[in-house]
Amino acid sequence: MTTATRTVDLDGLLSRLEDRTAEKIGTEPRVVLKDIDSFRLDELQIGPTWHRLTDIVAVSFDLKSSTNLEKGRSPQGTASIYDAGIGGVVRTLNDFGAEFVDIQGDGGFGLFWGRNAYTKAICAAVTIRSFSANFQQQIQDKWENLPSTGFKVGISSGPVMVKLVGLERHLDMQEPVWVGRPVNYATKAAQQTAPDNIVITGSVWDQIADNDYLAFSCGCGGGAVKSAVPGLLWTGREIDKIPDGQKYGLELGSTWCAHHGEEFCNLILSGATDRYDIPSSARAAREALSHGTELQAAAEERRSDRTRRFEELAEFRKAAAR
Ligand SMILES: [Zn+2]
Repeated sequence: MTTATRTVDLDGLLSRLEDRTAEKIGTEPRVVLKDIDSFRLDELQIGPTWHRLTDIVAVSFDLKSSTNLEKGRSPQGTASIYDAGIGGVVRTLNDFGAEFVDIQGDGGFGLFWGRNAYTKAICAAVTIRSFSANFQQQIQDKWENLPSTGFKVGISSGPVMVKLVGLERHLDMQEPVWVGRPVNYATKAAQQTAPDNIVITGSVWDQIADNDYLAFSCGCGGGAVKSAVPGLLWTGREIDKIPDGQKYGLELGSTWCAHHGEEFCNLILSGATDRYDIPSSARAAREALSHGTELQAAAEERRSDRTRRFEELAEFRKAAAR
């Protein structure tokens, strides 16, 4: 076997990249608004056009202590932990209808858009949280002295621009890039939590707060029969390194209930929102989560920003129908 030595025309490459950068920043790229209810990833092409999606939901996940998982284990052992863990999360995102999943090393993200994007994303996240607890138990039963692990999950939402970036005619060197804050913020939220808690940014709470099935517990207190009163499941949580009103997030510490999880999950996915078994004290606790001048101002700004984007989308739909 002969090994050909690779040579690179370095000066030529750098000079071509410089010309390319000048060309790119010298022309405004075309940004086309896309209808999020009908947008399909396979519409993307390599080219000058970016697509803007009005509102997407990003679920970011991160395997805790991944570097320590390798210590004292065979490469095969480590590989099987990754396979079980990352593979389990990707399957979950897929089962809940994620439109796109990206894996980067020991973490990644799933994206949801269109109808019921928020409820699908939250149900996927709670399922990852439930899976994560079982996963941790299963691998600790098999290997002693395993560091505590599991998946850290963060969720955010907002507008993105997307386009296929890479080399023309090289399908293995093309990838959609998502420019915008949702993935970035979801990742920051995931980094700042533990596998026991899901952290969401303000814009996600704006969309799910009124859903009684997501806000309150089933009220069985772990038994099959209702023995406790439903309570608020969320607590306020300020997220570091987020510079805008999205930093006023919340965290959720619960998994699906072993007795009512499936029922609740499917009710949520079917669009159910109202319950009649919630005590007024729990409803008051939910209200209290948005008390405070700063919190209210931030929520107001997030809502008007979202309204403006959907007005643009409505205009776009009208124009497209003409
Ligand atoms: Zn229950």
